[in-house]
Amino acid sequence: MDPLKALADAERKPYWLDTPARPEPLKRLIGNTRADLVVVGGGFSGLWTALMAKERDPGQDVVLLEGRRIGWAATGRNGGFCMATLTHGLPNGIDRWPQDIGRLERMGVENLDEIEQTLRRYDVDCSFERTGELHVATEPWQLDDLSGHLDLIRDLGLDYVPMDQEQVRAEVNSPTYLGGLWERSGCAMVDPARLAWGLREACLKVGVRIYERSPVRSLDDNGVTIDLRTPYGVARAARVALGTGVFPPLLKRLKHFLVPVYDYALMTEPMSEAQLASVGWHNRQGVGDSGNQFHYYRLTDDNRILWGGYDAVYYNGGQVKQEYEQRDETFVKLAGHFYDTFPQLSELSFTHRWGGVIDTCSRFSAFYGQAHGGRLAYAVGYTGMGVGATRFGANVMLDLLSGERTERTELAMVREKPIPFPPEPVRSGVIQFTRWSIAQADQHQGRRNLWLRTLDRMGLGFDS
Ligand SMILES: Cc1cc2nc3c(=O)[nH]c(=O)nc-3n(C[C@H](O)[C@H](O)[C@H](O)COP(=O)(O)OP(=O)(O)OC[C@H]3O[C@@H](n4cnc5c(N)ncnc54)[C@H](O)[C@@H]3O)c2cc1C
Repeated sequence: MDPLKALADAERKPYWLDTPARPEPLKRLIGNTRADLVVVGGGFSGLWTALMAKERDPGQDVVLLEGRRIGWAATGRNGGFCMATLTHGLPNGIDRWPQDIGRLERMGVENLDEIEQTLRRYDVDCSFERTGELHVATEPWQLDDLSGHLDLIRDLGLDYVPMDQEQVRAEVNSPTYLGGLWERSGCAMVDPARLAWGLREACLKVGVRIYERSPVRSLDDNGVTIDLRTPYGVARAARVALGTGVFPPLLKRLKHFLVPVYDYALMTEPMSEAQLASVGWHNRQGVGDSGNQFHYYRLTDDNRILWGGYDAVYYNGGQVKQEYEQRDETFVKLAGHFYDTFPQLSELSFTHRWGGVIDTCSRFSAFYGQAHGGRLAYAVGYTGMGVGATRFGANVMLDLLSGERTERTELAMVREKPIPFPPEPVRSGVIQFTRWSIAQADQHQGRRNLWLRTLDRMGLGFDS
């Protein structure tokens, strides 16, 4: 189908949030309150922090302040790939922390197992399916990348299955596939909005006080406690955890390390049985292709296909703006790529199109830290892979606030910071040139130009 026609009736809003299951907003913070811990941000990061704080110590008073609605931002509009990786994928982890990679992979799988157990414990229905992820190659050079770490994968005892062209097409039938690697237990598919709302329910059940539509405008340290000021009230906290993603940070130093990158997705109408049969997909894995600019796609529980990624857009000036959540140029490109991948689905059209903002940092995996004499902790910079990893980051924040030394706090990944981005306007120039170079590499068999090779050597990059 012509992409423009296929998009003609697509709603301009995130599919996952467009449901009557979305709970009514909770009340605003009005007046003054005190708490042992105040968590700022009602995405996965803040929700996990609040829930696990109560689980660690049910006696403490925990408040969560969300500026808008629970899960409205990246948390409620992502691909729903809930991954074990804590390092934005195995290759990035091997490059940056080779000495810790075995431990990081083990901790990541434990984190994913514990997410699954938590959902069972609180009876959260978010269509959690532990299907794994199928990494597919659509160009010959990508086959080399996929087989690059097989020895280490075997040594680490990870459950990956290499596949040739015939095997991968037997899983998901696309004429574009040349081979693949099925990471079988390291990823689950979820409905991210229902996961966020389920965590919200769990938080309320254990006694977290959640205030929505309560943006924290300022943070004042008065030596012993910290005052968090919202438009209609103040929360006085003994400890503060920031799970505020890429939004203007309450801790100024964070702005040097984070840039807002917009990622876009489409949702198709549900497939008929015949259409589903034409793609196979019996094991319902999430799928990611392997270019530097990559697509991610997956089935929903009513057999729609979510199709996203490829363009990772940085808007010069680095602002977070609602108008950036729609980008027709990208939607048309994504729709065209969808039909190239699945020509047998040429009659399928799209019901939703949307974008969301990602907290990109130069090392791609989250970074952690403390301020205000150790009474405030933060975890940000998940760079497009935070659905699962935010729970690990929440545990790191709670470890740091408690002053405990744990296996998590001793990791080099937790102790080190990424390299900061240069200030604007240099920042925009550098990022746009890097994006251009990445697109060039994809068009030239993955060959990286001098600029990308220099960044690689410095451990720097741009991703989503
Ligand atoms: C289109 C898209 C697709 C993605 N796909 C995937 C995927 O498939 N798998 C994956 O792992 N990751 C994916 N991601 C990334 C993932 O969604 C994020 O890493 C994750 O949701 C981050 O959660 P968070 O809580 O840190 O941030 P957010 O979800 O951004 O939440 C931050 C919250 O903090 C609140 N806040 C900020 N400042 C304040 C303040 N001053 N006062 C009060 N509240 C404040 C905001 O309102 C917001 O609700 C995707 C992201 C996008 C946009």
